[in-house]
Amino acid sequence: MSLLVPEDQLPVELTPFAAVEAAYPAEIARITEALRSGLPTLVECEKELTPYLYKAVRDRLKKEGRSFLYLDGRPIPELPPLQPGMGLVGTIVFYLREAVRGVANERVLVLPHLDLLTTSVGGLTSEAREVIPLLYENPELVFLGFKDPSFPLPKVIENLFPRQEHLLGVPRDRLRFLVTQRESRKLSNARALKGYQLYKHVSGVNAVRLRRLLSTLTGEDYPSDPRPAERQLRQATLVGQLTLPDIDLEKDVGGYAKVKERLSKEILDVLALKDAAADEATMKNIEGLIPRGMIFWGPPGTGKTLFAKAMATSLGAAVTVVSGPELKSKWVGESEENLRQVFTRARQAAPAIIVFDELDSFATARGTYQGSGVEHSMVNQLLTEMDGFRKDELVFVVGTTNFVESLDPALLRPGRFEFHLHIPYPNAEDRRAIIGIYDRKLALNLAPRGLEWLVKKTGEFVEGTGSLYSGDHIQALCRAIARLRLREKLTTPTDVEDIERTIAGMVDRMKLTPKEERVVATHEAGHAVVSLFCPTSAPIERMSIQGDFTAGYVRHAERTHQRVMTIGQLLDDVCVLFGGREAEQLFFDDVSWGYGNDLSRATDIARALVEDYGLAGEVVGMRRVEVSSEDPVSEVTKAALDRAIAEILEAQRKRARDILTANKALVTSLRDLLIEKKVLDASALASLLPAVPKKDPVASER
Ligand code: ADP
Ligand code: MG
Ligand code: ZN
Repeated sequence: MSLLVPEDQLPVELTPFAAVEAAYPAEIARITEALRSGLPTLVECEKELTPYLYKAVRDRLKKEGRSFLYLDGRPIPELPPLQPGMGLVGTIVFYLREAVRGVANERVLVLPHLDLLTTSVGGLTSEAREVIPLLYENPELVFLGFKDPSFPLPKVIENLFPRQEHLLGVPRDRLRFLVTQRESRKLSNARALKGYQLYKHVSGVNAVRLRRLLSTLTGEDYPSDPRPAERQLRQATLVGQLTLPDIDLEKDVGGYAKVKERLSKEILDVLALKDAAADEATMKNIEGLIPRGMIFWGPPGTGKTLFAKAMATSLGAAVTVVSGPELKSKWVGESEENLRQVFTRARQAAPAIIVFDELDSFATARGTYQGSGVEHSMVNQLLTEMDGFRKDELVFVVGTTNFVESLDPALLRPGRFEFHLHIPYPNAEDRRAIIGIYDRKLALNLAPRGLEWLVKKTGEFVEGTGSLYSGDHIQALCRAIARLRLREKLTTPTDVEDIERTIAGMVDRMKLTPKEERVVATHEAGHAVVSLFCPTSAPIERMSIQGDFTAGYVRHAERTHQRVMTIGQLLDDVCVLFGGREAEQLFFDDVSWGYGNDLSRATDIARALVEDYGLAGEVVGMRRVEVSSEDPVSEVTKAALDRAIAEILEAQRKRARDILTANKALVTSLRDLLIEKKVLDASALASLLPAVPKKDPVASER
């Protein structure tokens, strides 16, 4: 069996200090050696480890005659007296200054709370700003600094330390020294510690914390079922945003038999084999085969996040869901700290799954929409974190996106997000299964005829939109049916008529007032007319103002050359995006709230044109501009780039405005037809719109 340690070989008692010594012998040796050779050393570890690690290192070096100054802000009697009212930070800074003047006398300066020198956003406090330069000027001083992984440390402090140690959790082969005989008895009836089984649940917990968790285990000795004890440990390891999901892959996720089968075969079964591995070598072998990450891709609402949670449930893993757009918007201000913390917390709570929802929002392939410098540095940071996983800890990264092709290829290489599963809109069989789940959960009591009709109905577009039914839509419809049954106190089986009534009710509630409808119709007609006069815009397939998800939309056919974007196409896209807003302004002299998304997409494209396509050639030279944290562009260049982006936007806004002004009558008739019909498809549009000759810029280059 895997790492089976007979009970009598386990320690009877363990102090926290003995546990730290047992857990981190290699790390302690390296820190000691670095200080011995005069190299300032930074230790990144959780705060509760700091005093014990310090003691371990001090005990070793004391024997060799080295002594220490522990600067935690308390007075040190043998040093010059403090001025009254200095406070913690004042005291630390005072002693550092004294040390620079020679008071330290070859003693190692210990800074257990480096975070006291920093502000919450990772800058230096004013006191620190005075003293840090002095430290740089005195390279003969030797420091031992400690930082908690959840605090950002400014580069100027970090760079003081040529050596760094990062401690997170405990290594697997040390676990046997950290469990007492008494505790082992609470975990299984084997009269031996099943080390690997336990390790899976606590790999991210530091030695001091692990001791505390184990010593508080309750329950009988030699239980026949180890799960309650494991659950006690597991709950205690959860930190931050992490939760233990409870989604059953079979019972809670409907349909998608093929996806489930591949998920089981390629990932879950491999991990189960790892759990059952008989020896370290086999286990390491399997660990090398487990991908670090995977992608679920497909349209919104099809259950990608749900699948990730089901996966976590079957692994006993905690989950944290990170919204890509949110992360990106935080990125600019807080640098890579946010992303780093997501990974640190997940590792501390391992086994864990990090879900990056809408991964494409910051990790798009170069040369398509929206690739910008910020994203480039986020992708790099993401890859750095993934490469930093230890093999023995189980942290798995799941990305969701609409199109896997849209992702930065650097993410898709082996060892990263190498495994991809497509989750399309549900087919009839999938829909039947999903409906079955909600029929049961919501007690819909569907009649056979009602079920069949619902399966068929959900194969069409969601009322008033251009979207097919996703699992999410199906769930929403089922909930609406349940509410109707509650309202009308129905006890008979749900049949076709009930469902039809439900759908009619849903559509009704989405209805716009006549005035709103005019604004929305004008907006959409504006997009459409502008696109008609943009040479590379694809033909319109469908327009609608009857939406229940967005007020209105214009859907274009796919461009024939999707993968090759020319600058002309991107400029046309910006112009079309302005069409809605400009039409509103032209007709109402005012704009509704509805154009925010258009504007942000237009800005993204303009940014990509400048940063990735060098469209600001005359300002910064014809090259790709890297706007990332490692390679900071000067403020002057940044301002020039922003100006170039603003110029592109303004030029295309004006172009849209001119097209609309010249074709006001066309906008009006399209608007009126849209108000009358609510939905227009390609054939209805063909009769109304003049055929403006289009040229395909890619084809014409050949
Ligand atoms: P996505 O991540 O693909 O946008 P989600 O996983 O967030 O979709 O799905 C949203 C909700 O829709 C889920 O929480 C679930 O309630 C429902 N849902 C989606 N797909 C399914 C499915 N296959 N079976 C059951 N419920 C589903
Ligand atoms: Mg989702
Ligand atoms: Zn719009």
